[in-house]
Amino acid sequence: TIKNKTKIALITGGGSGIGKSICLRLALKQHKILVVDLNLEAAQETVDEIENQGGIAEAYAADVSNNQQILALFKNIKEEHTIDILINNAGIAHIGNIEQTKESDLDRLYNVNVKGVYNCISGVIDAMKAQKSGVIINMASVAASVGIAERFAYSMTKGAVLTMTYSVAKDYLADGIRCNCISPGRVHTPFVDNFLEKNYADNKAEMFEKLSKSQPIGRMGTPDEIAALVDYLSSEEAAFITGSNFPIDGGFVTL
Ligand code: NAD
Repeated sequence: TIKNKTKIALITGGGSGIGKSICLRLALKQHKILVVDLNLEAAQETVDEIENQGGIAEAYAADVSNNQQILALFKNIKEEHTIDILINNAGIAHIGNIEQTKESDLDRLYNVNVKGVYNCISGVIDAMKAQKSGVIINMASVAASVGIAERFAYSMTKGAVLTMTYSVAKDYLADGIRCNCISPGRVHTPFVDNFLEKNYADNKAEMFEKLSKSQPIGRMGTPDEIAALVDYLSSEEAAFITGSNFPIDGGFVTL
């Protein structure tokens, strides 16, 4: 039998899409969920949904790219809780090849996608070491392994998330901390809807269909499908898994 001790799980970008599904799913495990998002209203909505289904959660506003803000937030949180599970999910995209990527675009993606993960791991690692256990899951993308056309900065920064995972997994293996990476293919979240709204306002449905059909499996993934993998990887059942990358992409990388 799997003992289901109440744990504290912190999810960044928990106000929307994949992060929100992860929060709702882990709440079903009786974990206490700390929802961190740039958008406090969105984080609070996730908390309200968790509370409506009988779970426990708290919302925090923070920008993962801001080192001082994140270290101060985690210090405050640590006075009350020890974080058992950290899900580095917050991330942003940019469309363009290298010529269409300004230095400021690259800096922005690096700051959120790469430094954001560094900041959050820095905020929890001492406490995880002290309790000799912890789970860290980083959200990369298929772009991390194969690169995506016209997603130069996104592919590059997600590649860094993947290799950072391997490095952290090695450095803290002896401390009982597991660190893994998930690499989703196209998942239907508000990010996709906003993209279609912005770029294809007149033929959204058609473009949605085209995007879906361009996946080897013929559709996009759902946030809940990603959350199910996070649920497994963060559980005791996955105790033998560290330093691994999990594509979950309807065959995108290999088929
Ligand atoms: P989303 O845009 O729906 O949600 C992202 C959330 O992160 C938002 O609530 C946003 O407010 C928050 N956020 C953004 N910047 C932040 C910051 N600096 N600090 C704190 N919070 C911040 O995105 P999503 O589609 O659910 O994607 C979640 C993660 O999964 C991202 O890392 C993304 O790169 C990755 N991913 C998504 C897809 C996809 O197709 N949707 C595919 C592969 C990987």
